[in-house]
Amino acid sequence: MGDIVDQLTQALGADVVTAGPDVDKRYHCDWSAIDPVQPKALIRPRSTAEVSTALRLCHTAGQAVVPQGGLTGLAGGATPRRGDIVVSLERMAGIEEIDKVAATMTVAAGTVLETAQRAADEAGFLLALDLGARGSCQVGGNLSTNAGGNRVIRYGMAREQVLGLEVVLADGEIVTSLNKMLKNNAGYDIKQVFIGAEGTLGIITRATLRLHSRPLSRATAFCALADYASVVGLLRRMQSELGGISAFEVMWHDFYDFIANHPTTKQKPLPDNYPYYALVEFSGSDPDHDLNRFEALLAKAMADGAVVDAVVAQSEQAARDFWLIREGHGIDTKPLVINFDVSLPIADIDSFAAECRAALSAKWPDSLNVFYGHIGDSNLHISVMMEGYGSEVMHEVDAVVYQAVRAMKGSVSAEHGVGTLKRAYLGHSRGAAELSVMRRLKQALDPKGILNPGKLI
Ligand SMILES: Cc1cc2nc3c(=O)[nH]c(=O)nc-3n(C[C@H](O)[C@H](O)[C@H](O)COP(=O)(O)OP(=O)(O)OC[C@H]3O[C@@H](n4cnc5c(N)ncnc54)[C@H](O)[C@@H]3O)c2cc1C
Repeated sequence: MGDIVDQLTQALGADVVTAGPDVDKRYHCDWSAIDPVQPKALIRPRSTAEVSTALRLCHTAGQAVVPQGGLTGLAGGATPRRGDIVVSLERMAGIEEIDKVAATMTVAAGTVLETAQRAADEAGFLLALDLGARGSCQVGGNLSTNAGGNRVIRYGMAREQVLGLEVVLADGEIVTSLNKMLKNNAGYDIKQVFIGAEGTLGIITRATLRLHSRPLSRATAFCALADYASVVGLLRRMQSELGGISAFEVMWHDFYDFIANHPTTKQKPLPDNYPYYALVEFSGSDPDHDLNRFEALLAKAMADGAVVDAVVAQSEQAARDFWLIREGHGIDTKPLVINFDVSLPIADIDSFAAECRAALSAKWPDSLNVFYGHIGDSNLHISVMMEGYGSEVMHEVDAVVYQAVRAMKGSVSAEHGVGTLKRAYLGHSRGAAELSVMRRLKQALDPKGILNPGKLI
Protein backbone atom coordinates (compact mmCIF):
# COMPACT_ATOMS: atom_id res chain seq x y z
CA MET A 1 0.00 0.00 0.00
CA GLY A 2 2.92 2.43 0.63
CA ASP A 3 2.91 5.09 3.31
CA ILE A 4 0.11 7.62 3.66
CA VAL A 5 1.86 10.27 1.56
CA ASP A 6 2.25 7.77 -1.32
CA GLN A 7 -1.41 6.76 -0.99
CA LEU A 8 -2.54 10.38 -1.06
CA THR A 9 -0.31 11.15 -4.04
CA GLN A 10 -1.65 8.15 -5.91
CA ALA A 11 -5.27 9.07 -5.19
CA LEU A 12 -5.03 12.84 -5.68
CA GLY A 13 -2.00 13.41 -7.88
CA ALA A 14 1.39 15.06 -7.32
CA ASP A 15 -0.16 18.42 -8.16
CA VAL A 16 -2.31 18.20 -5.02
CA VAL A 17 0.12 16.55 -2.59
CA THR A 18 3.52 18.02 -1.67
CA ALA A 19 5.86 15.96 0.50
CA GLY A 20 7.32 17.52 3.68
CA PRO A 21 10.75 18.82 2.61
CA ASP A 22 9.18 20.57 -0.41
CA VAL A 23 6.46 22.31 1.62
CA ASP A 24 6.93 26.08 1.60
CA LYS A 25 7.66 27.61 5.02
CA ARG A 26 4.45 29.63 5.03
CA TYR A 27 2.51 26.43 5.78
CA HIS A 28 4.71 25.70 8.83
CA CYS A 29 2.69 27.90 11.23
CA ASP A 30 -0.04 30.49 11.49
CA TRP A 31 0.62 34.21 12.06
CA SER A 32 1.11 33.68 15.81
CA ALA A 33 4.52 32.45 14.49
CA ILE A 34 4.98 30.18 17.48
CA ASP A 35 6.84 26.88 17.06
CA PRO A 36 6.79 26.47 13.26
CA VAL A 37 6.99 22.84 12.12
CA GLN A 38 7.52 21.28 8.70
CA PRO A 39 4.47 19.03 8.16
CA LYS A 40 4.72 15.50 6.79
CA ALA A 41 2.91 16.70 3.67
CA LEU A 42 0.73 19.48 2.30
CA ILE A 43 -2.55 18.71 0.51
CA ARG A 44 -4.13 21.44 -1.62
CA PRO A 45 -7.44 19.98 -2.81
CA ARG A 46 -9.45 21.56 -5.62
CA SER A 47 -12.86 20.17 -4.67
CA THR A 48 -14.95 18.83 -1.81
CA ALA A 49 -14.56 15.35 -3.33
CA GLU A 50 -10.77 15.66 -3.04
CA VAL A 51 -11.04 16.78 0.60
CA SER A 52 -13.24 13.75 1.20
CA THR A 53 -10.74 11.36 -0.44
CA ALA A 54 -7.88 12.85 1.59
CA LEU A 55 -9.76 12.51 4.89
CA ARG A 56 -10.96 8.98 4.10
CA LEU A 57 -7.37 7.83 3.52
CA CYS A 58 -6.03 9.69 6.57
CA HIS A 59 -8.82 8.29 8.73
CA THR A 60 -8.02 4.73 7.71
CA ALA A 61 -4.32 5.32 8.39
CA GLY A 62 -4.98 7.15 11.70
CA GLN A 63 -3.09 10.11 10.24
CA ALA A 64 -3.46 13.52 11.95
CA VAL A 65 -4.66 16.35 9.70
CA VAL A 66 -4.53 20.12 10.26
CA PRO A 67 -6.91 22.30 8.21
CA GLN A 68 -5.41 25.61 7.07
CA GLY A 69 -7.22 28.70 5.83
CA GLY A 70 -5.50 32.06 5.37
CA LEU A 71 -3.21 31.32 8.37
CA THR A 72 -3.97 34.68 9.99
CA GLY A 73 -5.05 32.92 13.21
CA LEU A 74 -3.31 34.15 16.34
CA ALA A 75 -3.79 31.11 18.58
CA GLY A 76 -1.61 28.47 16.86
CA GLY A 77 -4.73 26.62 15.64
CA ALA A 78 -3.48 26.03 12.08
CA THR A 79 0.13 25.21 13.03
CA PRO A 80 1.04 21.54 12.46
CA ARG A 81 2.89 19.33 14.92
CA ARG A 82 5.68 17.06 13.75
CA GLY A 83 4.18 14.27 11.61
CA ASP A 84 0.89 16.08 10.86
CA ILE A 85 -0.44 16.55 7.33
CA VAL A 86 -1.83 19.97 6.51
CA VAL A 87 -4.83 20.52 4.24
CA SER A 88 -4.89 24.01 2.76
CA LEU A 89 -8.22 25.24 1.39
CA GLU A 90 -6.56 27.96 -0.69
CA ARG A 91 -7.47 26.45 -4.08
CA MET A 92 -11.13 26.05 -3.13
CA ALA A 93 -11.97 29.72 -3.62
CA GLY A 94 -14.73 31.54 -5.42
CA ILE A 95 -18.25 32.92 -5.17
CA GLU A 96 -20.64 30.22 -6.32
CA GLU A 97 -23.88 32.17 -6.16
CA ILE A 98 -25.40 35.41 -4.96
CA ASP A 99 -29.15 35.04 -4.49
CA LYS A 100 -30.50 38.58 -4.54
CA VAL A 101 -34.00 37.51 -3.56
CA ALA A 102 -32.95 35.46 -0.54
CA ALA A 103 -30.06 37.92 0.16
CA THR A 104 -27.55 35.09 0.47
CA MET A 105 -24.13 34.31 -0.91
CA THR A 106 -22.71 30.80 -1.35
CA VAL A 107 -18.92 30.66 -1.34
CA ALA A 108 -16.16 28.08 -1.34
CA ALA A 109 -14.41 27.94 2.04
CA GLY A 110 -11.04 29.09 0.69
CA THR A 111 -12.45 32.42 -0.54
CA VAL A 112 -10.56 35.36 0.96
CA LEU A 113 -12.94 37.42 3.11
CA GLU A 114 -12.23 40.67 1.24
CA THR A 115 -13.08 38.99 -2.09
CA ALA A 116 -16.45 37.91 -0.66
CA GLN A 117 -17.05 41.40 0.79
CA ARG A 118 -16.35 43.01 -2.61
CA ALA A 119 -18.64 40.60 -4.45
CA ALA A 120 -21.44 41.35 -1.97
CA ASP A 121 -20.86 45.08 -2.38
CA GLU A 122 -20.93 44.85 -6.19
CA ALA A 123 -24.26 43.02 -5.92
CA GLY A 124 -25.64 45.86 -3.76
CA PHE A 125 -25.36 44.13 -0.37
CA LEU A 126 -23.21 44.15 2.74
CA LEU A 127 -21.38 41.06 3.96
CA ALA A 128 -21.26 42.16 7.56
CA LEU A 129 -18.23 40.16 8.73
CA ASP A 130 -15.15 42.40 8.81
CA LEU A 131 -11.75 42.19 10.49
CA GLY A 132 -8.26 43.60 10.11
CA ALA A 133 -6.99 40.43 8.40
CA ARG A 134 -9.70 40.64 5.69
CA GLY A 135 -7.17 40.64 2.82
CA SER A 136 -5.71 37.24 3.81
CA CYS A 137 -8.13 35.32 6.03
CA GLN A 138 -10.58 32.92 4.40
CA VAL A 139 -14.29 32.42 4.97
CA GLY A 140 -13.66 28.82 6.13
CA GLY A 141 -11.12 30.07 8.69
CA ASN A 142 -13.49 32.82 9.80
CA LEU A 143 -16.26 30.32 10.43
CA SER A 144 -13.95 27.81 12.09
CA THR A 145 -12.85 30.48 14.56
CA ASN A 146 -16.30 32.11 14.75
CA ALA A 147 -14.48 35.38 14.02
CA GLY A 148 -15.73 38.63 15.52
CA GLY A 149 -14.21 41.87 14.33
CA ASN A 150 -15.46 45.38 13.81
CA ARG A 151 -19.22 45.18 13.35
CA VAL A 152 -20.28 42.56 15.90
CA ILE A 153 -22.23 45.08 17.95
CA ARG A 154 -24.62 45.55 15.02
CA TYR A 155 -24.59 42.28 13.08
CA GLY A 156 -23.23 39.61 15.45
CA MET A 157 -20.27 37.30 15.05
CA ALA A 158 -19.42 35.01 12.11
CA ARG A 159 -21.92 32.48 13.43
CA GLU A 160 -24.78 34.92 12.90
CA GLN A 161 -23.86 35.34 9.22
CA VAL A 162 -24.18 31.63 8.38
CA LEU A 163 -27.32 29.97 7.04
CA GLY A 164 -25.83 26.83 5.54
CA LEU A 165 -22.63 24.83 5.55
CA GLU A 166 -20.92 21.98 3.76
CA VAL A 167 -18.50 20.00 5.89
CA VAL A 168 -16.33 16.93 5.33
CA LEU A 169 -16.23 14.72 8.41
CA ALA A 170 -13.13 12.98 9.76
CA ASP A 171 -13.93 9.74 7.90
CA GLY A 172 -14.48 11.56 4.60
CA GLU A 173 -18.29 11.69 4.68
CA ILE A 174 -19.65 14.87 3.08
CA VAL A 175 -22.48 16.66 4.89
CA THR A 176 -24.05 19.23 2.58
CA SER A 177 -26.55 21.54 4.22
CA LEU A 178 -26.46 24.74 2.17
CA ASN A 179 -29.70 26.03 3.68
CA LYS A 180 -30.82 29.52 2.54
CA MET A 181 -33.79 29.92 4.86
CA LEU A 182 -33.66 32.18 7.89
CA LYS A 183 -36.02 29.88 9.74
CA ASN A 184 -35.28 26.17 9.81
CA ASN A 185 -36.10 24.31 12.99
CA ALA A 186 -36.12 20.82 11.48
CA GLY A 187 -34.03 19.19 14.19
CA TYR A 188 -30.57 20.05 15.54
CA ASP A 189 -28.85 23.04 13.95
CA ILE A 190 -25.86 20.91 12.97
CA LYS A 191 -23.83 23.70 11.39
CA GLN A 192 -23.36 25.42 14.75
CA VAL A 193 -21.22 22.53 15.99
CA PHE A 194 -18.62 23.17 13.27
CA ILE A 195 -18.61 26.96 13.61
CA GLY A 196 -15.91 27.90 16.13
CA ALA A 197 -14.64 24.28 16.29
CA GLU A 198 -11.20 25.33 14.96
CA GLY A 199 -11.05 22.40 12.54
CA THR A 200 -11.38 19.75 15.26
CA LEU A 201 -14.73 18.33 14.11
CA GLY A 202 -14.70 18.58 10.31
CA ILE A 203 -13.35 20.56 7.37
CA ILE A 204 -15.68 23.29 6.13
CA THR A 205 -15.74 23.31 2.33
CA ARG A 206 -18.65 25.66 1.40
CA ALA A 207 -20.93 28.10 3.17
CA THR A 208 -24.11 30.00 2.51
CA LEU A 209 -23.91 33.41 4.17
CA ARG A 210 -26.54 36.03 4.97
CA LEU A 211 -26.24 39.37 3.26
CA HIS A 212 -27.53 42.66 4.67
CA SER A 213 -28.67 45.92 3.13
CA ARG A 214 -25.79 48.28 2.52
CA PRO A 215 -25.88 51.27 4.90
CA LEU A 216 -26.55 54.51 3.04
CA SER A 217 -24.67 56.76 5.45
CA ARG A 218 -21.82 56.46 7.89
CA ALA A 219 -20.66 58.84 10.61
CA THR A 220 -17.57 58.32 12.73
CA ALA A 221 -16.38 60.19 15.82
CA PHE A 222 -13.45 60.03 18.20
CA CYS A 223 -14.52 60.94 21.74
CA ALA A 224 -12.74 61.51 25.04
CA LEU A 225 -14.42 60.54 28.30
CA ALA A 226 -13.67 61.16 31.94
CA ASP A 227 -14.55 57.79 33.44
CA TYR A 228 -15.74 54.29 32.58
CA ALA A 229 -19.32 55.00 33.70
CA SER A 230 -19.44 57.69 31.01
CA VAL A 231 -18.08 55.21 28.45
CA VAL A 232 -20.87 52.72 29.16
CA GLY A 233 -23.40 55.58 29.39
CA LEU A 234 -22.42 56.80 25.90
CA LEU A 235 -22.70 53.29 24.48
CA ARG A 236 -26.23 52.81 25.82
CA ARG A 237 -27.31 56.32 24.86
CA MET A 238 -26.09 55.88 21.28
CA GLN A 239 -27.84 52.53 21.00
CA SER A 240 -31.14 53.79 22.31
CA GLU A 241 -31.18 57.21 20.59
CA LEU A 242 -29.53 56.35 17.26
CA GLY A 243 -30.06 52.64 16.86
CA GLY A 244 -27.54 51.71 14.20
CA ILE A 245 -24.26 51.81 16.08
CA SER A 246 -21.88 49.72 14.01
CA ALA A 247 -18.73 50.08 16.12
CA PHE A 248 -17.97 51.14 19.68
CA GLU A 249 -14.25 50.79 20.27
CA VAL A 250 -12.70 51.90 23.54
CA MET A 251 -9.08 52.79 24.25
CA TRP A 252 -7.68 53.27 27.73
CA HIS A 253 -5.25 56.19 28.17
CA ASP A 254 -2.19 53.88 28.10
CA PHE A 255 -3.12 52.63 24.64
CA TYR A 256 -3.90 56.09 23.28
CA ASP A 257 -0.69 57.63 24.73
CA PHE A 258 1.38 54.94 23.10
CA ILE A 259 -0.30 54.94 19.68
CA ALA A 260 -1.00 58.67 19.31
CA ASN A 261 2.64 59.49 20.13
CA HIS A 262 4.17 56.68 18.10
CA PRO A 263 6.47 57.90 15.28
CA THR A 264 4.38 56.04 12.67
CA THR A 265 1.16 57.86 13.68
CA LYS A 266 0.48 60.80 11.38
CA GLN A 267 -2.47 62.41 13.12
CA LYS A 268 -3.63 62.62 16.69
CA PRO A 269 -7.41 63.23 16.70
CA LEU A 270 -7.53 64.48 20.32
CA PRO A 271 -4.99 65.52 23.02
CA ASP A 272 -3.52 62.62 25.01
CA ASN A 273 -4.48 63.70 28.52
CA TYR A 274 -7.91 62.06 28.84
CA PRO A 275 -8.54 58.81 30.74
CA TYR A 276 -10.69 57.07 28.06
CA TYR A 277 -11.28 57.36 24.33
CA ALA A 278 -14.04 55.87 22.19
CA LEU A 279 -14.22 55.48 18.44
CA VAL A 280 -17.90 55.32 17.56
CA GLU A 281 -19.39 54.58 14.17
CA PHE A 282 -23.01 54.97 13.19
CA SER A 283 -24.41 53.44 9.99
CA GLY A 284 -27.80 54.63 8.88
CA SER A 285 -30.29 54.66 6.04
CA ASP A 286 -31.13 58.38 5.88
CA PRO A 287 -28.12 60.19 4.39
CA ASP A 288 -29.87 63.59 4.54
CA HIS A 289 -30.31 63.53 8.30
CA ASP A 290 -28.06 60.87 9.85
CA LEU A 291 -24.96 63.04 10.27
CA ASN A 292 -27.02 65.79 11.90
CA ARG A 293 -28.62 63.35 14.34
CA PHE A 294 -25.21 61.91 15.19
CA GLU A 295 -23.64 65.35 15.74
CA ALA A 296 -26.63 66.55 17.75
CA LEU A 297 -26.34 63.57 20.10
CA LEU A 298 -22.63 64.22 20.60
CA ALA A 299 -23.24 67.95 21.19
CA LYS A 300 -25.85 67.09 23.84
CA ALA A 301 -23.48 64.58 25.46
CA MET A 302 -20.76 67.24 25.58
CA ALA A 303 -23.13 69.85 26.98
CA ASP A 304 -24.12 67.63 29.88
CA GLY A 305 -20.52 66.50 30.51
CA ALA A 306 -20.90 62.85 29.45
CA VAL A 307 -18.31 63.41 26.71
CA VAL A 308 -15.44 65.78 27.46
CA ASP A 309 -14.09 66.21 23.94
CA ALA A 310 -14.99 64.88 20.50
CA VAL A 311 -14.14 65.19 16.84
CA VAL A 312 -16.35 63.98 13.99
CA ALA A 313 -14.68 62.68 10.81
CA GLN A 314 -15.36 65.09 7.93
CA SER A 315 -14.21 62.69 5.21
CA GLU A 316 -13.76 58.98 4.51
CA GLN A 317 -10.01 59.54 4.92
CA ALA A 318 -10.47 61.12 8.36
CA ALA A 319 -12.60 58.14 9.43
CA ARG A 320 -9.89 55.76 8.16
CA ASP A 321 -7.28 57.71 10.17
CA PHE A 322 -9.38 57.23 13.32
CA TRP A 323 -9.46 53.50 12.62
CA LEU A 324 -5.68 53.43 12.12
CA ILE A 325 -5.30 54.65 15.69
CA ARG A 326 -7.62 51.94 16.99
CA GLU A 327 -5.88 49.24 14.95
CA GLY A 328 -2.80 49.97 17.02
CA HIS A 329 -0.11 50.11 14.36
CA GLY A 330 3.12 50.62 16.25
CA ILE A 331 2.55 47.93 18.85
CA ASP A 332 4.03 45.39 16.44
CA THR A 333 7.33 47.33 16.30
CA LYS A 334 8.22 46.23 19.84
CA PRO A 335 10.57 43.23 20.21
CA LEU A 336 8.22 41.04 22.28
CA VAL A 337 4.48 41.61 22.28
CA ILE A 338 2.05 39.26 24.03
CA ASN A 339 -1.51 39.86 22.88
CA PHE A 340 -4.69 38.87 24.65
CA ASP A 341 -8.25 38.68 23.46
CA VAL A 342 -10.51 38.17 26.46
CA SER A 343 -14.17 38.70 27.24
CA LEU A 344 -15.74 40.00 30.44
CA PRO A 345 -19.12 41.30 31.48
CA ILE A 346 -19.17 44.94 30.26
CA ALA A 347 -19.70 46.32 33.76
CA ASP A 348 -16.51 44.61 35.01
CA ILE A 349 -14.11 45.47 32.19
CA ASP A 350 -12.64 48.59 33.77
CA SER A 351 -11.97 47.00 37.15
CA PHE A 352 -10.49 43.99 35.36
CA ALA A 353 -8.19 46.31 33.39
CA ALA A 354 -7.08 48.05 36.61
CA GLU A 355 -6.37 44.77 38.43
CA CYS A 356 -4.63 43.22 35.47
CA ARG A 357 -2.48 46.31 34.88
CA ALA A 358 -1.48 46.33 38.57
CA ALA A 359 -0.63 42.60 38.57
CA LEU A 360 1.46 42.88 35.39
CA SER A 361 3.32 46.01 36.55
CA ALA A 362 4.04 44.44 39.95
CA LYS A 363 5.70 41.43 38.33
CA TRP A 364 7.30 43.14 35.33
CA PRO A 365 7.78 46.83 36.24
CA ASP A 366 9.37 47.59 32.84
CA SER A 367 6.54 46.12 30.77
CA LEU A 368 4.29 48.45 28.83
CA ASN A 369 0.70 47.24 29.06
CA VAL A 370 -2.07 48.72 26.94
CA PHE A 371 -5.82 48.06 27.04
CA TYR A 372 -8.35 48.52 24.23
CA GLY A 373 -11.12 46.64 22.50
CA HIS A 374 -14.59 46.10 21.14
CA ILE A 375 -16.18 47.06 24.45
CA GLY A 376 -19.70 47.08 23.02
CA ASP A 377 -19.17 43.32 22.48
CA SER A 378 -17.62 42.80 25.96
CA ASN A 379 -14.28 42.09 24.26
CA LEU A 380 -11.04 43.50 25.68
CA HIS A 381 -7.63 43.27 24.02
CA ILE A 382 -4.43 43.64 26.02
CA SER A 383 -0.97 44.03 24.54
CA VAL A 384 1.92 43.43 26.89
CA MET A 385 5.12 44.86 25.41
CA MET A 386 8.42 43.72 26.89
CA GLU A 387 12.10 44.17 26.19
CA GLY A 388 14.99 42.01 27.36
CA TYR A 389 12.95 38.82 27.91
CA GLY A 390 12.92 35.54 25.97
CA SER A 391 9.69 34.08 24.62
CA GLU A 392 9.47 31.75 27.67
CA VAL A 393 8.12 34.70 29.70
CA MET A 394 4.92 34.42 27.63
CA HIS A 395 3.64 31.52 29.72
CA GLU A 396 4.13 33.48 32.94
CA VAL A 397 2.33 36.49 31.51
CA ASP A 398 -0.49 34.22 30.24
CA ALA A 399 -0.89 32.77 33.72
CA VAL A 400 -1.24 36.24 35.31
CA VAL A 401 -3.80 37.49 32.78
CA TYR A 402 -5.88 34.30 32.61
CA GLN A 403 -5.97 34.01 36.40
CA ALA A 404 -7.50 37.50 36.50
CA VAL A 405 -9.99 36.46 33.78
CA ARG A 406 -10.97 33.39 35.77
CA ALA A 407 -11.45 35.42 38.94
CA MET A 408 -13.96 37.63 37.10
CA LYS A 409 -15.73 34.73 35.35
CA GLY A 410 -14.66 35.95 31.91
CA SER A 411 -13.61 34.07 28.80
CA VAL A 412 -9.99 33.42 27.82
CA SER A 413 -10.96 33.80 24.18
CA ALA A 414 -13.42 36.40 22.95
CA GLU A 415 -12.83 35.92 19.24
CA HIS A 416 -9.40 34.53 18.28
CA GLY A 417 -10.09 30.97 19.43
CA VAL A 418 -8.23 28.59 21.72
CA GLY A 419 -5.76 26.82 19.40
CA THR A 420 -2.69 25.65 21.29
CA LEU A 421 -2.01 28.92 23.07
CA LYS A 422 -5.04 28.92 25.36
CA ARG A 423 -5.70 25.20 25.55
CA ALA A 424 -4.28 24.88 29.05
CA TYR A 425 -6.64 27.66 30.20
CA LEU A 426 -9.90 26.41 28.66
CA GLY A 427 -10.96 25.19 32.11
CA HIS A 428 -10.70 28.79 33.41
CA SER A 429 -13.77 29.64 31.32
CA ARG A 430 -15.64 26.35 30.93
CA GLY A 431 -17.02 24.06 33.64
CA ALA A 432 -16.41 20.32 33.92
CA ALA A 433 -19.80 19.46 32.40
CA GLU A 434 -19.23 21.80 29.45
CA LEU A 435 -15.79 20.26 28.82
CA SER A 436 -17.31 16.81 29.02
CA VAL A 437 -19.91 17.67 26.33
CA MET A 438 -17.09 19.01 24.13
CA ARG A 439 -15.11 15.77 24.56
CA ARG A 440 -18.17 13.64 23.81
CA LEU A 441 -18.86 15.63 20.64
CA LYS A 442 -15.25 15.23 19.56
CA GLN A 443 -15.39 11.49 20.26
CA ALA A 444 -18.64 11.09 18.30
CA LEU A 445 -17.48 13.00 15.21
CA ASP A 446 -13.78 12.14 15.21
CA PRO A 447 -13.35 8.88 17.17
CA LYS A 448 -9.77 8.40 16.01
CA GLY A 449 -8.85 11.97 16.93
CA ILE A 450 -7.26 12.76 13.55
CA LEU A 451 -8.68 16.27 13.11
CA ASN A 452 -6.39 18.99 14.43
CA PRO A 453 -5.22 17.04 17.51
CA GLY A 454 -3.69 19.05 20.33
CA LYS A 455 -5.86 22.07 19.54
CA LEU A 456 -8.75 23.54 21.52
CA ILE A 457 -9.66 20.48 23.63
C1 LIG B 1 -4.19 41.93 11.69
C2 LIG B 1 -5.14 40.91 12.25
C3 LIG B 1 -6.38 41.33 12.73
C4 LIG B 1 -7.26 40.39 13.25
N1 LIG B 1 -8.45 40.84 13.71
C5 LIG B 1 -9.34 39.95 14.18
C6 LIG B 1 -10.63 40.40 14.64
O1 LIG B 1 -10.91 41.58 14.69
N2 LIG B 1 -11.50 39.45 15.04
C7 LIG B 1 -11.19 38.11 15.02
O2 LIG B 1 -12.04 37.30 15.38
N3 LIG B 1 -10.00 37.67 14.61
C8 LIG B 1 -9.07 38.55 14.18
N4 LIG B 1 -7.85 38.10 13.77
C9 LIG B 1 -7.52 36.66 13.84
C10 LIG B 1 -7.76 35.88 12.51
O3 LIG B 1 -7.71 36.73 11.40
C11 LIG B 1 -9.10 35.17 12.56
O4 LIG B 1 -9.06 34.16 13.56
C12 LIG B 1 -9.53 34.51 11.24
O5 LIG B 1 -10.88 34.13 11.34
C13 LIG B 1 -8.70 33.30 10.85
O6 LIG B 1 -9.00 32.94 9.51
P1 LIG B 1 -7.91 32.18 8.61
O7 LIG B 1 -8.55 31.84 7.32
O8 LIG B 1 -6.66 32.94 8.55
O9 LIG B 1 -7.73 30.84 9.44
P2 LIG B 1 -6.42 30.03 9.86
O10 LIG B 1 -5.52 30.87 10.69
O11 LIG B 1 -5.82 29.39 8.68
O12 LIG B 1 -7.08 28.90 10.79
C14 LIG B 1 -7.72 29.21 11.98
C15 LIG B 1 -8.34 27.94 12.58
O13 LIG B 1 -9.39 27.47 11.75
C16 LIG B 1 -9.09 26.16 11.24
N5 LIG B 1 -9.54 26.19 9.82
C17 LIG B 1 -9.17 27.03 8.85
N6 LIG B 1 -9.88 26.79 7.74
C18 LIG B 1 -10.71 25.76 8.01
C19 LIG B 1 -11.71 25.06 7.29
N7 LIG B 1 -12.01 25.37 6.03
N8 LIG B 1 -12.38 24.05 7.91
C20 LIG B 1 -12.10 23.72 9.19
N9 LIG B 1 -11.17 24.35 9.92
C21 LIG B 1 -10.49 25.36 9.35
C22 LIG B 1 -7.60 25.97 11.42
O14 LIG B 1 -7.27 24.61 11.61
C23 LIG B 1 -7.36 26.79 12.69
O15 LIG B 1 -7.68 26.03 13.82
C24 LIG B 1 -6.92 39.01 13.28
C25 LIG B 1 -5.67 38.60 12.80
C26 LIG B 1 -4.79 39.52 12.30
C27 LIG B 1 -3.47 39.03 11.78
